[in-house]
Amino acid sequence: MTATLAKIIWLGFGVAWFLLRLRPGRRARKTPVRYSARDLREFALLGASLTGLGIVPCLYLALHVPRSADYALVPVLSYLGIAVDLACLWLFYRTHRDLGHNWSVSLDLRERHTLVTTGVYGLVRHPMYSGFWLMALAQALLLPNWVAGPAGLVGFGILFFGRVRREEKMMITAFGDEYQSYMRRTARVVPWIY
Ligand code: SAH
Repeated sequence: MTATLAKIIWLGFGVAWFLLRLRPGRRARKTPVRYSARDLREFALLGASLTGLGIVPCLYLALHVPRSADYALVPVLSYLGIAVDLACLWLFYRTHRDLGHNWSVSLDLRERHTLVTTGVYGLVRHPMYSGFWLMALAQALLLPNWVAGPAGLVGFGILFFGRVRREEKMMITAFGDEYQSYMRRTARVVPWIY
């Protein structure tokens, strides 16, 4: 394992993730949005996540900045990163299958929105965010750079902690007791823990 190979693997997983989301994304967008909580704050949170998971590591790959933050690659961490990325792809595949037309990149409720509580949604109530945490962790394990590696954890962390309570409030408003009882029996992103 070399740093160049680890970078190529990180990029390959990014492309696979993008392709995996194309079809379910296109299908979900066919169902019109009936309520949206998108605002400037949501826009900023999405920007933070995109910066940490996309822009910073891409700049590192393309221009090798910041070079001074490089460290020697630890092969066992890279292999662990590959395993985490594989788990992440599987989870994204499952969440899109379970969530179907209810999926949105932001805080939206679509026409005929249904509350999904089965499949991976029976284990945790934010499995797609679990997938993003795995993606950010894999980035930290694969990229041997103190800035580009952890940038995903910081960027997605900002989105997650800035959004998750608002999303749950929106779901309580839409689904009432049904969502509250769903909250009581599920953890947020790590089964039985958080
Ligand atoms: N937070 C979820 C979904 C992310 S996609 C996850 O991590 O898996 C964001 C959209 O999904 C939100 O706009 C919301 O409308 C919708 N959503 C979130 N949880 C849902 C659920 N259990 N059932 C149906 N739609 C849900």
